[in-house]
Amino acid sequence: MNIQWYPGHMTKAKRAMKEDLKLIDLVIELVDARVPLSSRNPDIDDLGAGKARIVLLNKADLADEALNRRWAQWFTERGLHVVKIDARNKGTLKQIQAVVQEACKEKIERDRKRGILNRPIRAMVVGIPNVGKSTFINSFAGKACAKTGNKPGVTKGNQWIRLNKTLELLDTPGILWPKFEDQQVGLKLALIGSINDEILNRDELALELVSFLNRRYPGVLAERYQLENAGDCDTTQVLEQVARQRSCLAKGGELDLPKAARLLLDDFRSGRLGRITLEEPETAKDKGEKDQDG
Ligand code: GDP
Repeated sequence: MNIQWYPGHMTKAKRAMKEDLKLIDLVIELVDARVPLSSRNPDIDDLGAGKARIVLLNKADLADEALNRRWAQWFTERGLHVVKIDARNKGTLKQIQAVVQEACKEKIERDRKRGILNRPIRAMVVGIPNVGKSTFINSFAGKACAKTGNKPGVTKGNQWIRLNKTLELLDTPGILWPKFEDQQVGLKLALIGSINDEILNRDELALELVSFLNRRYPGVLAERYQLENAGDCDTTQVLEQVARQRSCLAKGGELDLPKAARLLLDDFRSGRLGRITLEEPETAKDKGEKDQDG
């Protein structure tokens, strides 16, 4: 992720998105299924007011399926249409079609009453960096037979990707900024690899991951790295064991913990530790709800 967010940048991005939003009927919001809340920006509720809304739990292939279901329910309870997807898999796009029709039912009905038939639904993809917006649009575009050209009123450079007679997608996604003022959000986005590792302490990040896995997914590390009594060890000892088992050794033969940290994070991010979700719906607070922790 190479974007440095600062207030001016955010204001500009927000303004551009507001312009694009004027053109569309449907907001397709991508979130990362491993961190469905931390990968959102609540501003989308204001930005998307009055539009049909769909939330795509993307990278569902990497997330815990039981939690995918609970998160889907959580979003549904908040009046949003939800689909779990793997944006790289074109097959899952079919599922979205039915939900699009459902989400836009009112608009389609309104059009019908006015005698407007078959006007395609126009949609825009939005989300924070790295949630899979481009992958999703490419999957769509790859399937689409034609790109429609620039049209009057369409922001310069934008094109509509026509998927079929009923759905067109803006080819440029709207980029939302993460809630990076919240440290826990920053930590989770770093764990999934959405924030540049260079600016973070990778060793600390790996220890956070060990601590989380021991709490929520006990046994995962022991199984993957053949660790003994991992449950009784502190996080540093676990990382040392990983280093030993994977022969992460520095020159003099001592353990290379930074290397083990990198290996562990890579294994997690690529799904080699299994399907893991970092946050649960219970921790989610609704807007305006009193913060019980502080
Ligand atoms: P953007 O910044 O929102 O446009 O995100 P990208 O489309 O560039 O995707 C970021 C990374 O996530 C890329 O490496 C994609 O291959 C990967 N990715 C996107 N969608 C999925 C998905 O559903 N599952 C998995 N496993 N990887 C995905």
